[in-house]
Amino acid sequence: MLIDILSLFPGYFKGPFDVSIIGRAIEKGLVAINLVDIRDFSENRHKKVDDRPFGGGPGMVMAPEPVAGAIRSVKKEGAHVIYLSPQGKPLTAAKCRELAKQPHLILLCGHYEGVDERVIEKEVDEEISIGDYVLTNGCAAAIVLVDAVLRFVEGVIGHPEAAQKDSFEESGHFDAPHFTRPVVFEGMEVPEVLRQGDHQKIEQWRRAQARKKTVRVRPELVKGEES
Ligand code: SAM
Repeated sequence: MLIDILSLFPGYFKGPFDVSIIGRAIEKGLVAINLVDIRDFSENRHKKVDDRPFGGGPGMVMAPEPVAGAIRSVKKEGAHVIYLSPQGKPLTAAKCRELAKQPHLILLCGHYEGVDERVIEKEVDEEISIGDYVLTNGCAAAIVLVDAVLRFVEGVIGHPEAAQKDSFEESGHFDAPHFTRPVVFEGMEVPEVLRQGDHQKIEQWRRAQARKKTVRVRPELVKGEES
């Protein structure tokens, strides 16, 4: 899989992509992440990439030429262009699974008030939001998307069966609570059922606990399910 990330701060991604599971996925060659500086596509003498909004109002808008230039510099047949935007469809586990099948993602990170609408119309396949709040720029959203999508790329996660038990996966609700040693921590004991080795009982207990918490915290996830 190839992921091109277009932003004004390529340095922002150093760190998150150098360590842990994503770092190893890059090392193993399962994914290549290419960071593109949109400023390199400014034809302005001062490398300016923003301008005042038509119609007035506060803030600046990313000009269409450098953004379109940056996208076109990496776009090839089969590429899927995503603009990270609070106005996009929500990033869900199902969406991540779908995106993990794409061989080439191009992620456009907005800055300032966002990107000139004409570039979105002409070059972007879909807008994706990571939640109903507004970030200062799209870089953090791109990191979230890459992290969540790569978990579904074959070979990235050591135990793929563990991912199937994660929240929102097979069951559609939360994962069950986890415990490890010691058996007693500050007076709190690991539930006995988990220590008795009866796998059927353990499974039943986990399912019940997962459902209980989902009903309490996110009742909409179990709506329509038989109780
Ligand atoms: N004026 C825009 C609006 O209200 O829809 C918000 C612009 S925001 C300050 C700057 C950039 O951050 C956006 O262009 C987008 O790339 C990114 N961004 C902000 N919130 C986001 C979110 N919830 N999901 C994904 N990207 C987001």
